Amino acid sequence: MLPADNWHEPAEVDIAIAEHAIAGIAPVFAPVTGAAIEELDARGHLVLPGFINAHYHSHDVLAKGTLEEVPLETWRLYALPPQYPPRSVEEVRARTLLGALECLRSGMTTIQDMLTLYPFEDRHLDAVMKAYEQIGIRVVFSLQYADRKGLETIPYWKDIFPKELHPLLSTAAEPERQLDLLGHFEAACLKAQPRPRVHWALGPSAPERCSPALMARTMELARRYDVPVYSHIYESRGMALQARLTLPEHGGSLIKRLAAESMLDPLLNLAHSVWLARDEIDLLAETGTGVVLNPQGNLKMKCGIPPIRALQDAGVRISLGCDNCSCSDAQNMFMAMKLFALLAAASDPLPGPPQAAAALRAATEAGARLGGAIGRIAPGCKADLTLIDMSDPSWLPLNSAVRQLVHVEAGRGVRHVIVDGAVVVRDRRLTTIDEDEIYDAVRVVMPGFRRDFTAISERVQRLQPWLDQAHQRIVSTELDFDRIYIPF
Ligand SMILES: [Zn+2]
Repeated sequence: MLPADNWHEPAEVDIAIAEHAIAGIAPVFAPVTGAAIEELDARGHLVLPGFINAHYHSHDVLAKGTLEEVPLETWRLYALPPQYPPRSVEEVRARTLLGALECLRSGMTTIQDMLTLYPFEDRHLDAVMKAYEQIGIRVVFSLQYADRKGLETIPYWKDIFPKELHPLLSTAAEPERQLDLLGHFEAACLKAQPRPRVHWALGPSAPERCSPALMARTMELARRYDVPVYSHIYESRGMALQARLTLPEHGGSLIKRLAAESMLDPLLNLAHSVWLARDEIDLLAETGTGVVLNPQGNLKMKCGIPPIRALQDAGVRISLGCDNCSCSDAQNMFMAMKLFALLAAASDPLPGPPQAAAALRAATEAGARLGGAIGRIAPGCKADLTLIDMSDPSWLPLNSAVRQLVHVEAGRGVRHVIVDGAVVVRDRRLTTIDEDEIYDAVRVVMPGFRRDFTAISERVQRLQPWLDQAHQRIVSTELDFDRIYIPF
């Protein structure tokens, strides 16, 4: 679908690709012959700009399907790297490839991987980079970091848990003991030779987990190297409550804290943004700060429904992500788009603008922070394309391409995927690596992962009485508005 198309009934066109970019678009190109020319027959297919998974973490790909009915603050103890013993290089490689494969097979050509490597090891970073290079997906890559201990950032934990249990409590990222991770990232990545299809970004875990000094350093680097910044904000009620409890000087608002620190900026992208207040939304709109919504994970972790209509009405840039495999659990943009379109209804009872086109934009061009080079089908843009096979009941009769894409197609139709001008998925199979090799590598590392997951689960179960007490207090403390709990 071209930006200027009627998205209900897109035009039939030929698309020429030269090297890594879209060279031209025309109703019909003259037949070209020559050994170097490859023609991919796209008749009967819907051609889309590849989806951009604008919020994703490859560190827990192996944990998909492990958890249910676990609120966010507890989930972090089950799923996130600070709770785990060091991982093997083989496991890091296997999970990176498996996650990228799932993304590609569901039509994503770019993923924003906000990766926690804890404790950090260069050999793990190397394994991740090599895996992405080998599989052929485009990645906007950041390491997740923090300089405050998780225990300090979650309401009531410090009071409720006995002191001897405090060392067992952590969150998405913990301060590195040995290393200035941001300095290391600058030297090893931002200043290093460019890698194909890798775009760097910065990943301060969340403002409450980072000191003002660390956030300021982040934005200084972001502006100097012109790279985007990804962070988490107000995913859960607990995160909004923590701001109310700890930031009286900013009216209890993390967004106002960020504004006071000159952090709000078009380079900044705030994942989740569920518990934003009205005046905070206005601040994001005024400053061009973007949000990345992750509806699957937010519902599964009992976090709530973002104020989609208010964000749209204010003109905030909205993109979509699929977040962690342990909470979303699928890397599937069709699910994310459909939930986005449907949840817009829950965020405002009055009829509003049609949401299917808005969902597709959020899944493509709105997530592209690379100078407009991806997320659209236009001459000069990167040749990152997804071809949906329309010979399927989902597409017959064809009444509206964009509505059927968002409300009917679930991913079955993804047939070919092109990244950077190369066909990376052809006829639903990866071309760059033998898929069976990836599945075998996952089977080899799973016993070790399962053993550690079981030990961690037993530990969390021992903490359950205090976790329940803290969660009960979080959900029953008065807040100025609600985003999920509907009284019966
Ligand atoms: Zn996240």
